[in-house]
Amino acid sequence: MSASRPEILFPLFAGLETLAGVGPKTAKSLSGLSVEKPRDLLFTLPHALIDRRRIDTVQGARSGDVVTVEITVLRHLVPNRKGLPHRVFVQDQRTEFQIVFFRGASDWIEKQLPVGETLLVSGKVELYEAQIQIPHPDHILAVDRESELPHFEPVYPLTAGVTQKIMAKACADAIDKTPDFAEWIDPHLRSREGWPSFRTALLTAHNPLSIDEISPTSAAHQRLAYDEFFAHQLTLALARTSVKSKPGRASIGDGRLRAQVLKALAFKPTGAQGRAMDDIQADLASPERMNRLLMGDVGSGKTLVAFMALLIAVESGGQGVLMAPTEILARQHLADLKPLAEQAGVVLELLTGRDKGKERKAKLSALKRGDIQILVGTHAVFQEDVIFHDLRLAIVDEQHRFGVTQRMALADKGRFSDVLVMTATPIPRSLSLAQFGDMDVSILDEKPAGRMAIKTALSSTERIDDVVAHLRSAVDAGRQAYWVCPLVGESEVMDLVAAEERFKHLRAALGEGKVGLVHGQMASEEKDRTMAAFATGQLAVLVATTVIEVGVNVPNASIMVIERAEHFGLAQLHQLRGRVGRGSVASTCLLLYQAPLSETGRRRLELLRETEDGFRIAEEDLVMRGAGDLLGTAQSGVPKFRIADIETQSALMALAQNDARKFLLDDPKLKSERGQAVRVLLWLMEKDRAIRLITVG
Ligand code: ADP
Ligand code: MG
Repeated sequence: MSASRPEILFPLFAGLETLAGVGPKTAKSLSGLSVEKPRDLLFTLPHALIDRRRIDTVQGARSGDVVTVEITVLRHLVPNRKGLPHRVFVQDQRTEFQIVFFRGASDWIEKQLPVGETLLVSGKVELYEAQIQIPHPDHILAVDRESELPHFEPVYPLTAGVTQKIMAKACADAIDKTPDFAEWIDPHLRSREGWPSFRTALLTAHNPLSIDEISPTSAAHQRLAYDEFFAHQLTLALARTSVKSKPGRASIGDGRLRAQVLKALAFKPTGAQGRAMDDIQADLASPERMNRLLMGDVGSGKTLVAFMALLIAVESGGQGVLMAPTEILARQHLADLKPLAEQAGVVLELLTGRDKGKERKAKLSALKRGDIQILVGTHAVFQEDVIFHDLRLAIVDEQHRFGVTQRMALADKGRFSDVLVMTATPIPRSLSLAQFGDMDVSILDEKPAGRMAIKTALSSTERIDDVVAHLRSAVDAGRQAYWVCPLVGESEVMDLVAAEERFKHLRAALGEGKVGLVHGQMASEEKDRTMAAFATGQLAVLVATTVIEVGVNVPNASIMVIERAEHFGLAQLHQLRGRVGRGSVASTCLLLYQAPLSETGRRRLELLRETEDGFRIAEEDLVMRGAGDLLGTAQSGVPKFRIADIETQSALMALAQNDARKFLLDDPKLKSERGQAVRVLLWLMEKDRAIRLITVG
């Protein structure tokens, strides 16, 4: 199958200068709207309408109203010196008013509006000293040309150097250059929804005849939004199929080790943990490859679920690997898993970039012999010379460090038959469909019982002396605290200076030996030493500059102070807060902000005070911030949709996912007639990854 763009699409991918009214300068300006080629214009829709229907009089119009009236020109007042406007006195059916020009040559204006003539003018009304006037009307035309004025004029988004007229003309030409494509949407779905064809949808969305037709719920908009979602979901479904189609293995296990561990646990798995374990068990038992995401808030108990999965690999006579994004997190996992492994009598080892020489060699050969059953580590576990005896399961703890792309690369390596990805960042369902549509998802949406609530409070930085005084008495009472300084400035160096200042300040206030500092620029050995000192209780307060450094589990730490909290994402704040509340004492999280807070800023922080439910926080964060923002788009692999809106159209996204998966089940190679049409859609929507998958396979 050819890997080049179908000819039918060439005009839509040509230079912008090929469009009517677009020269090199306009073409350049259009990039301000992220428009680089004619196809981009198709998906740049008018977002408002100007009502140009004719009325009798401007009388009663309010400032800002757009009116279209028939007028008779009475006289001109030509300015007698520079800086004064040219005024034209006109009369409509009921009142006299002025049309005003602040620029333009008077003789040109007189030609446009000859005295005695009856004309149609349309423009925005202004009130000047209680008098109605229309400055620079948008349209002046002879009465018999009224039909040239659309009743509703579309309003496009603009950018410097691009006017409404240019946009309208260029968009119209781009649509002219759009052929009638064969339909790629399932015909039953299309008729059920009453959607127009692609081309008709474009025509309607660009030339709306009523307010209803610019609404995102109009049939035309829905269809175009669906096209975007469908192309995205096809890409994910293709990726999913390509992973699944590689030979997998069935790991069944006899349940012996798992039973041993469950029996030794001091608690019962939550319902959500049980469901996730069942999902994973079924995936592993099937000869297809597992490609599953385990999503669960901090403290929801992912570790146990992951360990049970690893035990299935071991029970089946194989090995498992768990990879974390940082050294610190890898060590944390080791510490979490070690006691469980001992229960099961399973051999667990750590491998990171720090393993060198003889010791590393010894570990590698033990791994190759199969003497190490579970390996925990960093990226180091992927190195060429790391050879497993019989690797059956790879678990990647994502902790928002790996994006879709890295995940794909991992699966592409082909060394891992079954992959489980874990993430501690709850994301709304709509986003998880967009971001993880290539995977099957298990969600831990149930907190283990008996968790103590974390008290969350807000305070202005102005009250920092009180805060430090409180902290001192807490530290005297044997409590431990994290103090997080954000990266806010332009330069990391400046932020570091700020954190060092805070460190000195706290040290002076709380005692020399009681406060430690960790930051991203530190040598890792030094960082580890400081963290270890905090973990063992030698240090009472740990000042940190970034989120990552606090990815540790110190149950005795029960206070979290976050400075300039308004600069963090809600999800990030929620994650940080999850570092406390792990022990037996009541915990506190203090969000320090720089006053004054904006209205939204206050609402965001108050939401955190209100709830500890990560999914709810994520949902509301999405509403407040918008999708791209929430995901840090570049990393997430979720495209920016031009028409579709992930927030409000999640039902449409779910529909697209179902349809895409169903379609590929019937026609995995896109060979059918509809398959050919779908190919055109993928090219049109620039789904390079999907195209690669269908052209290679
Ligand atoms: P996370 O999802 O953040 O990785 P962990 O797996 O570290 O969460 O679990 C947090 C704590 O909760 C651990 O101390 C763990 O032993 C405990 N835990 C896990 N599952 C349960 C459960 N079902 N009931 C009670 N405690 C549990
Ligand atoms: Mg964990």
